[in-house]
Amino acid sequence: MSPARSASSWAARCRRGWPRACLLAAILAGCGGSPAGSNDRLEPDTELVVGVAGAAADGSRLTFAIDVDTGAAPLVVRAASPVGQTGTRWDFGDGSGPRQGDGAHVYTQAGVFTVTVQGANVKDPAASAAHRVVVTPCTLAIKGPALCRVGQGLSLQLPAGTTWPCTWSAQDGVIFGADSSASYTAPAAPGTDRISATLNIEGTRFRVDADVRVFRQFIILKADDIGVATVRWGRYLNWLRSRGVASTAGIIWSQLRQADPAWQQFLLSLQAEGLCEFFHHGYDHSTGANLDGTAPGTTQWEFRGTSYEFQRQHLDAGLVVADSLGFVVRTFGAPFNKADASTVRALDEQPAIRTVLFEPPGGNRLHLRRTVDLENGTGKSDLAYFVPQYRAHEADEYLVLQIHPNATDDASFTQLQQAIDLLISEQRTFVTAEDYRRLNASRLVPAPRRSSDEPAAARVTP
Ligand SMILES: [Zn+2]
Repeated sequence: MSPARSASSWAARCRRGWPRACLLAAILAGCGGSPAGSNDRLEPDTELVVGVAGAAADGSRLTFAIDVDTGAAPLVVRAASPVGQTGTRWDFGDGSGPRQGDGAHVYTQAGVFTVTVQGANVKDPAASAAHRVVVTPCTLAIKGPALCRVGQGLSLQLPAGTTWPCTWSAQDGVIFGADSSASYTAPAAPGTDRISATLNIEGTRFRVDADVRVFRQFIILKADDIGVATVRWGRYLNWLRSRGVASTAGIIWSQLRQADPAWQQFLLSLQAEGLCEFFHHGYDHSTGANLDGTAPGTTQWEFRGTSYEFQRQHLDAGLVVADSLGFVVRTFGAPFNKADASTVRALDEQPAIRTVLFEPPGGNRLHLRRTVDLENGTGKSDLAYFVPQYRAHEADEYLVLQIHPNATDDASFTQLQQAIDLLISEQRTFVTAEDYRRLNASRLVPAPRRSSDEPAAARVTP
């Protein structure tokens, strides 16, 4: 980023640096005045970066200088004519058209552009010199949490060193800004609010936008035990889809592997729509005596009491099936909500998993807790049982509601629908566990990044 400088002081430095530019121009003269490469920079101790010469038809020299030829948009390029050269006509190559005289030009879009200079006080008015400018995509961003509760406030700012005059605006909320920082208050209703910072860069307006998710409370539906296709699973998923409600559903991978391909495809289509996230709910959801062969007579669960090796194998086997079918798995929830320290260790070695529902807590993952139950017994959604708990937890930022759609009979399904419709009417925001993790990560100090394109997993403070 080129810091804002006054054109006159830059021009003064430019003129002091001009002998170097002339030297460079002499070297480049062998190129016949063709567009110069990007390595034709002067030494870094001078701010005069580029000097290019073109030979006018009468043999006189046509020269120019710009202070920078590479950078991210918005890129400010200051153009100057050397001493004695007057009436210079510039074209910055980005469609803004020619301009007469020196000064600053702002590139607002990424691209490779050719700056040309013409005219001046040479005898051949058609003579020109050119130089290439490379503008990379804008990296300027509004910094601040992307998550805000209704009616509450946030502090926002532009990156350090952004010194252009700035005005702030918000589509729905209220914002007061003073140049590079602003104070925002969210509106009273949930939704996505767009915040804009409009910079005045040398007379050019440049806008940077950011979206803030305004919420009252997040709801994560944790539906367990997807295997083969059943009428009840179809009913649950199709009804949520018709309501536009996001949900998170736990797959038992050894069962789904053997399921009807049409069912697998249906689930994949829900994943592609972004309304449904599928989580790892065990490879086989097993429980029984001595599952791993090391503890005769002892009851074990797939992820509790069994050895680390057994658990790692089951975690990985599930992910292999998921991968082969095309499911993107970022979340884990132990079968029976039973897990132990070996599960934490196995998950620690599997960085694809970034969120855990209920069990086990620990590790560098988002842990989502169980606070309120919708079901009063497996598959028994119960509105009268749910509502008092829900009222007692209205201040919680999120609720994870566990559901067993395949164990839900018609009467319980009606209760489930009523509960979800109540939550919709009270402006709750339904998200997948992964959606919530991403939003949540935007306001926390991130752990070291695991890959270049993904925000790292973050911890949530209960
Ligand atoms: Zn289960």
